Amino acid sequence: MTRVLIVGAGLTGCTVAWRLAQDGIASVLMERADVPGGLIRSEHMEGVLYEPHGSHIFHTDDEEIWNLANAMTPFRPYRHRVDIVIEDKVLNWPILLSDIDRQSRGAEIKAELEERRGVDPAARAAAANFEEWCLDLMGPVLYERYIRPYTEKQWGRPARTLSAQWAPRRVSVRWDNDPYLFPDPYQGWPAGPDGYTDLIDGLLAGAHCELRTGVDVTFENLAAHMREAQADLVLLTCPLDVFAGHCFGSLDWRGILVQSVHVPHVEYAQGAMVVNYPAQAFPFIRIHETKHASGQKCEGTVLGFEFTGAPTRYYPIELPENRDLNDRYQGFLRDRVGPKRAYFAGRLANYLYIDMDDCMRQALDATEELIADLRRDAPSARGAAT
Ligand SMILES: Cc1cc2nc3c(=O)[nH]c(=O)nc-3n(C[C@H](O)[C@H](O)[C@H](O)COP(=O)(O)OP(=O)(O)OC[C@H]3O[C@@H](n4cnc5c(N)ncnc54)[C@H](O)[C@@H]3O)c2cc1C
Repeated sequence: MTRVLIVGAGLTGCTVAWRLAQDGIASVLMERADVPGGLIRSEHMEGVLYEPHGSHIFHTDDEEIWNLANAMTPFRPYRHRVDIVIEDKVLNWPILLSDIDRQSRGAEIKAELEERRGVDPAARAAAANFEEWCLDLMGPVLYERYIRPYTEKQWGRPARTLSAQWAPRRVSVRWDNDPYLFPDPYQGWPAGPDGYTDLIDGLLAGAHCELRTGVDVTFENLAAHMREAQADLVLLTCPLDVFAGHCFGSLDWRGILVQSVHVPHVEYAQGAMVVNYPAQAFPFIRIHETKHASGQKCEGTVLGFEFTGAPTRYYPIELPENRDLNDRYQGFLRDRVGPKRAYFAGRLANYLYIDMDDCMRQALDATEELIADLRRDAPSARGAAT
């Protein structure tokens, strides 16, 4: 019987295990950490549900993924609103027209916005870089307050060195004063007692899979792990440069670190789940408070202070040389593990910033491909030695 080794038990790996089980295919899921869940795992601190890696909002227009997530754990309605501290005032992010009058130089800002209101979006799309795109949208005063300091804190480099392609998904001015961040038809947060950990547990409960934690799989020890696990195929959800011992060099990432603190005796410590702090005067970039989304009723709360520039793998640096390098690692691994025996899914193995719904979609699609290959080439794929 075919068995698949899945490397990494984050949302992607667990969704793969679940999907394989739908076709009766067994898997062995190997995870380096002591617990599954990767970035989305929720935990408790002094009884308060929180997210050690920063807050996550499930939002999607993919009905199949929404239904799958809800079948694993029920979701409660939650629409995400973000605050931002500008000139010591708490305003909305994205920029609302109604917040302009609460700032200094309001008349000047409105004139700058009005001048740009008629700019054809296609002309803006041709902007040379992120800074130019944003200036074309909002003018210099808003740009200097909301965008430049935040962007440079997040990326650690001048905003004019970043691609304009990031901008449309991240930056907007709301002339209709709609305060919510995401437009997707399906949005929510897990309703159960353990937040996203319930989603992970739901996927694993439906999987025909053996979970092994505390196992660091590398290219060097892969053959031994596959033999021992009696696996014919491998699906990788881990960073490929690390996995392959950096043999062609390292992929660049921008990392963050979230430091969580329990705050007793208050129900909430801030007005929204996420508050942005663009100014350099603040050493952190955002503060997270999951309780707004979990709706947990209890005394005390947990705040997560997010710092940038940490040596962690969170945001890929989208440069052609990094994309080529990741492609090279995928080609190398396909070649060395064997044709139709190595598959990739998720944010790390594909070197992408993707949301949870896209991870689940990639997991389903990669598993479909794997199953289709298996059906076509069953005799040669099964039992092949690594
Ligand atoms: C700051 C931040 C905020 C986000 N907010 C949102 C949000 O609001 N909404 C949303 O939809 N998405 C959000 N995301 C995206 C979301 O976190 C990811 O899409 C998703 O968690 C990725 O799942 P994954 O399984 O691909 O990766 P991961 O969660 O990183 O899981 C990979 C797993 O592989 C394991 N592993 C790595 N190497 C090895 C190895 N060699 N051997 C064994 N195991 C290994 C790791 O320990 C980890 O458990 C956010 C991401 C970030 C960085």
